[in-house]
Amino acid sequence: MKVTRGQILRRGLTNRCPNCGGKTLFKPGTLLGLNRECSACGLPTERDEGAFLAAMSLNYAVTLVGFLSPVALFWYGGALSGKTAIVVAGAGAVVVPALLYRRSRCWGLANYYFFLPQHLPANREGPPAGAGDRND
Ligand SMILES: [Zn+2]
Repeated sequence: MKVTRGQILRRGLTNRCPNCGGKTLFKPGTLLGLNRECSACGLPTERDEGAFLAAMSLNYAVTLVGFLSPVALFWYGGALSGKTAIVVAGAGAVVVPALLYRRSRCWGLANYYFFLPQHLPANREGPPAGAGDRND
């Protein structure tokens, strides 16, 4: 296998294409513009509807564990009043997922290929597409 699970994980955490490692998944100069495919290797970034849901699930999970749970613990421990905790948690529940959108799309893609690395074009067996088509 050419691309290992460790590489896929590292590439996902650094907003890189899991197949080629390029920073080519997002349109240059845009904040949220995801390319339909990697501009370097052509890997589709939206395999199907489930890919988007996986990314959003990861986004909500990180928001819950990384932001909302600490707010709840501060409230429970008495460091925040109830009203303050509700305002902070409500604002964070909107702002944090928006801030994580870009990363979560890469996490979703890396999550898929982490569990199915043989589906990466770089890991497929056999000659590359188009090789051997000519008869000369
Ligand atoms: Zn690529």
